[in-house]
Amino acid sequence: MADQEQSTLALKNGHHLPRIGLGTFQATQQGLVGSAVKYAVKAGYRLIDCASGYGNQKEIGAALKELFEEGAVKREDLFIVSKLFQTHHAGTQHEDGDRRCVESLDETLEDLGLDYLDLYLIHWPFGFQEKKLDDSEGIKQPLRLGDGSPNPIWNIKMEYLDTWRCFEKFVANGKCKSIGVSNFTEEQLQQIIDMCTIPPAVNQIEVHPYLLQQNLHSYCAEKNIRVMGYSPLGSTSSNHPQKYGVNLLSNPVIKVIAEKLGKTAAQILIKWTTQNNSNLITIPKSTTPSRIVENVSLDFEIENEDVKKINELDCGHRYFISYLKKPGNDNIWHSGVIEEGNDDDWV
Ligand code: NDP
Repeated sequence: MADQEQSTLALKNGHHLPRIGLGTFQATQQGLVGSAVKYAVKAGYRLIDCASGYGNQKEIGAALKELFEEGAVKREDLFIVSKLFQTHHAGTQHEDGDRRCVESLDETLEDLGLDYLDLYLIHWPFGFQEKKLDDSEGIKQPLRLGDGSPNPIWNIKMEYLDTWRCFEKFVANGKCKSIGVSNFTEEQLQQIIDMCTIPPAVNQIEVHPYLLQQNLHSYCAEKNIRVMGYSPLGSTSSNHPQKYGVNLLSNPVIKVIAEKLGKTAAQILIKWTTQNNSNLITIPKSTTPSRIVENVSLDFEIENEDVKKINELDCGHRYFISYLKKPGNDNIWHSGVIEEGNDDDWV
C-alpha cells in the first residue's frame, strides 16, 4: 500500500480512521466475502465496512476469527464499521423504545464475533417496517410508501434522533468506540448536532466523480465530521440480482487519464477520492483477489489539471436517492433505487 493510503485520519475522540477500507456490500455468495476479508487484511487493509443489511456479517466474523487465531492481525489493529438497518431504529414514539436498536447491535457483535465496534453508523435517516428477508421475495418494505401513504406503525420523521440517543449509550457502555451516520444531509446532521452530547464522527455517503456534493463536504469538514465515501467505482455489480450503480469505469475522461499514467480506471477513481479531499475515506468493494490489491496500489499522483477534469464530470448524479424528499410534497420519501436520474428532480 502507498503511504497516503496507509495513513489515517484522526477523529474528534482521538481514534484513528484508515483512509481506505474494504466494502462488503453485494457479497452474499457463500464463501466470497470471508475469503475477500482474509485476503484484504493480509494485503494490508485495516478497515472493513460491514452492515447488518448486507446479510454477510456471520461469514465476516468467521474470517476475522481465523485471522486472529492465525496471528495475522490483532483486533486492536483493525477498524471495524457496521450499520444499524432501517428496521431497527429506536423510537420514543412507539412502545419498543431502544429495544430493536440494542438487539441489532448485539446481533451484529455476535455475528462478527467482536466485543466492540470501532464505528457504528445509522445506515439511513429513515425506517423500514420490519419484515423478514424471505418475505415478499427479500425486498424490505419502506416505512412510507412511494405514493406518500404512511406506514401505520412508526413515525419516521424524527426517528433517527431517538436512535442517536441510543447510540450515545453504546459509547458509554463500551460497545462502540465511535458513532456516526450514513446518507444524512446537512439539515439532518444539524438536527443531531443540536440535540446530542456526542456529535457524529462520520457521515458515510455516496462519493464519486458524478456526485461531488461540495456543500455537504464543506459542512462536514467545518463540523469536523469525517466523510466516508461509498461506491467510488460506481457500484456496478455483475453478481447481484439488484441493479445498482453507474458505469464510471468506462468513462472516457477516466480512461484517458488511466492510459496516460499506466494505471487502471479503478485506480484513478480511488486515487482521486483520497487525493482530492483530505477529509475523505474511501471503501471500494471487491471480492476478486487481484482487484483487492490493485485498489490499494496507489503509489502515484494524478496531475492537478487531471483532477480538475475529473471534478468537471460532476453532474449531481446519484444512484441511491432514497433519503430525498420530492419538492412540494413533504410526505413522499422515495425509497427505491433508480438506474438513471438527476438530482434536479429532488431536494
Ligand atoms: P464500488 O464502487 O466499490 O464497486 C464495487 C464493484 O466494482 C464490484 O462489482 C466489484 O467487483 C467491482 N470492482 C472492484 N474493484 C474493481 C477493479 N479494480 N476493476 C474493476 N471492477 C472492480 O461499490 P459499492 O457499492 O460496493 O461501494 C463500496 C462499499 O461502500 C460497499 O461495499 C459498502 O461497504 C459501502 N456502501 C455503503 C452504502 C450506504 O448506504 N452506506 C451504500 C453502498 C455502498 P468484484 O467484487 O467482483 O471484484
